[in-house]
Amino acid sequence: MKEFSINTNVYFGEGSLDRLNEIKNKKVLIVCDKFMETSGTAAKIQEKLDNCEVAIYSDIVPDPSLEVVAAGIQKLQSCNAQVLIALGGGSSIDGAKAIREYAKKVTGGVCSIEEFYAIPTTSGTGSEVTEYAVITNKQEGLKYALADKSLLADYAILDPELVKTVPKAITADTGMDVITHAIEAYVANDATDFSDALAEKALTLAFRFLPQAYLDGNDIVAREKLHNASCLAGMAFNAAGLGITHSLAHALGGKLHISHGRSNAMILPHVIEYNANLNKDTFKVEYSTAAKKYQRLAKLLKLHAPNVHIGVNNLIRSIVELQNTLMIPKTLKEQGADMNLAQTLKEEIVNAALKDICTTANPRETTSEELLMVLDKIFE
Ligand code: NAD
Repeated sequence: MKEFSINTNVYFGEGSLDRLNEIKNKKVLIVCDKFMETSGTAAKIQEKLDNCEVAIYSDIVPDPSLEVVAAGIQKLQSCNAQVLIALGGGSSIDGAKAIREYAKKVTGGVCSIEEFYAIPTTSGTGSEVTEYAVITNKQEGLKYALADKSLLADYAILDPELVKTVPKAITADTGMDVITHAIEAYVANDATDFSDALAEKALTLAFRFLPQAYLDGNDIVAREKLHNASCLAGMAFNAAGLGITHSLAHALGGKLHISHGRSNAMILPHVIEYNANLNKDTFKVEYSTAAKKYQRLAKLLKLHAPNVHIGVNNLIRSIVELQNTLMIPKTLKEQGADMNLAQTLKEEIVNAALKDICTTANPRETTSEELLMVLDKIFE
């Protein structure tokens, strides 16, 4: 027996922030980063709340650490909030999830929070609908994912107005995160008809609207469609799981501090090639389910895909073309990473990736040697 459920109520489209008007006479904690506070976005949220006592915890940073979460728990306890609002990219939403979760543990299961709202301001992680929170252990240089249904937000609000300010490079990186989520979820071990439907829609929307949103950040239609795609892809991978693109990206983020979406973008084409495992010498082979599903995605994107070989290769080619349009580097060197440091950390990166929660969902069972082979492709 299999199960599929979406436990978060999603409000979307222009004006959806007005859903916050329904929060009345409550103690509220907004969890965000400094940009959300200084740009006035947190104040915009605050204005919507009716007669509420509002506190703001704005110390979230990209890839939030255990220390950042611990300080957030203190803030939560001091303001005794009944409503928690996560405002920002995946880092703020994951930070808020972890704050609520660990606060419960500290107090033996008691938590003042009655409602949890997630308001994404990047179109990327889908964290507003997932049961994951990615937290960084700075001492060990490790990013790891907490995973539990209790992490799910009660409400997600996808207002495209909030993503208009996302700069080009972050639009590109986070947009490639959406594409990676959709493709990895589609071929993941636990993929079903339900998650496939979500992944297919997410991928077609993201392929069509990411270049538009990148070229013109004020194109509200493109922003809205990409924002919806991000959430749909989140629903897909929440049900199906991800794969080794994410395992390696988490390890690269923890060790070399490369943005999550960018790491995914660099690795994804190589993982598709690895997972498809095409026999280069002959067309007469039994193809893996993953290879056939990549071909299906190629057809969905209206690429030339008369057989599995051509379909897989054209899917890879179209991703690389998209990366070119979005000016995304293809190697760690192009990315400006410290290559000496990267070389010394290679083995640690592979070991961390092998243990990552996403590795178990990858459609091809992998070894450290094979992970190293994939990683080497972005070391050139
Ligand atoms: P982020 O939250 O780290 O934000 C990146 C930068 O974008 C920050 O400097 C932030 O201030 C800025 N920013 C955010 N919104 C903006 C806006 N509207 N205008 C201008 N600037 C804005 O980036 P992200 O990619 O959204 O999140 C990445 C994190 O999410 C990583 O830690 C990753 O591992 C995690 N993640 C979590 C899940 C999940 O399911 N929980 C899934 C994928 C990734």
